[in-house]
Amino acid sequence: MAARILDGNKIAAEIRSEVAADLKALSAAGVRPGLAVVLVGHNPASEIYVRGKVKSSEEVGLYSEKHTPPESATTDELLAVVNDLNRRDEVDGILIQLPLPPQVDAKRVLQAVDPAKDVDGFHPMNVGYLSTQRSGLVPCTPNGVMEILSRSNIPISGQEAVVVGRSDIVGKPMAMLLLNANATVTVCHSKTHNLQGVCRRADILVAAIGKAGFVTRDFVKPGATVIDVGMNKVTGRVEFEKYFKGIEKREQAFAKNGSILMGDVDPAVSEVAGAITPVPGGVGPLTIAMLMSNTVRAAKLRRGCAVLV
Ligand code: NAP
Repeated sequence: MAARILDGNKIAAEIRSEVAADLKALSAAGVRPGLAVVLVGHNPASEIYVRGKVKSSEEVGLYSEKHTPPESATTDELLAVVNDLNRRDEVDGILIQLPLPPQVDAKRVLQAVDPAKDVDGFHPMNVGYLSTQRSGLVPCTPNGVMEILSRSNIPISGQEAVVVGRSDIVGKPMAMLLLNANATVTVCHSKTHNLQGVCRRADILVAAIGKAGFVTRDFVKPGATVIDVGMNKVTGRVEFEKYFKGIEKREQAFAKNGSILMGDVDPAVSEVAGAITPVPGGVGPLTIAMLMSNTVRAAKLRRGCAVLV
């Protein structure tokens, strides 16, 4: 039987409307939360992501602003931008779009962001809050995955969860969130032995690898929930046909754009899994929705209980 499709667009829309309602209540209390996005240079993918973030902010009713230092920006120049944003009261959330150019000390810049405004949840203080189950700001993508699971009534407590990928922005916080929700968690990476066997233990399998179609049906226990975080651009006709030959909608998209967005999970996995997130339309939309939600949360946390709604 084909897997249940976990519709990220629908869940993200629910979250955005909750955020919009929160913003209305905050506005009545005289508060308009603001998000500042810093985009350095002209990375085409980053430009698309930032456009989406700014557009979504405007749609839900957040104040937003974009800062665009040049590709040649130094660490000191970016620290000055961050310090200025840290100081400004109308800015509740600061997002530094990654990657930063090679001459910049990215860790130093991210660490300079006021943890109370760190809507990406990358600051070591927020990482510590997450791992010690304190209230803080949680990275958007893994937090979005938790929303998909809970709003789809997928049980987590006591379940075997396997996360493939151990990056600071997805894999590690994902594992921590699942652990905090009482799953039994295994984290895999490029040095893991018997990866397929470990993945086949999973009731919940999260793929955050960055390799198109890497997780095949042999990795998946029948009935498992599969969350595909991967976003990979497929440009070759041969690779495209391996996965999408004869699927009209995909054929049209490939013909139009010369490429297609694909996850880390082979589409054939949907014949084995119990539930699965599609790409596109799965985890991606949640990442932006959680950014909106984090900005409102940061605004509330920074102002204390007086305006908590
Ligand atoms: P990353 O920093 O490159 O990390 C990839 C992880 O996958 C690493 O831990 C790596 O292991 C592991 N890995 C690589 N090859 C492997 C293999 N053959 N077997 C097992 N593990 C392997 O990537 P990321 O930033 O976490 O992103 C992962 C994917 O998610 C990318 O496709 C990215 O575009 C996507 N993403 C999507 C969203 C969204 O909103 N949907 C947001 C963020 C990222 P090692 O640590 O051993 O190298």
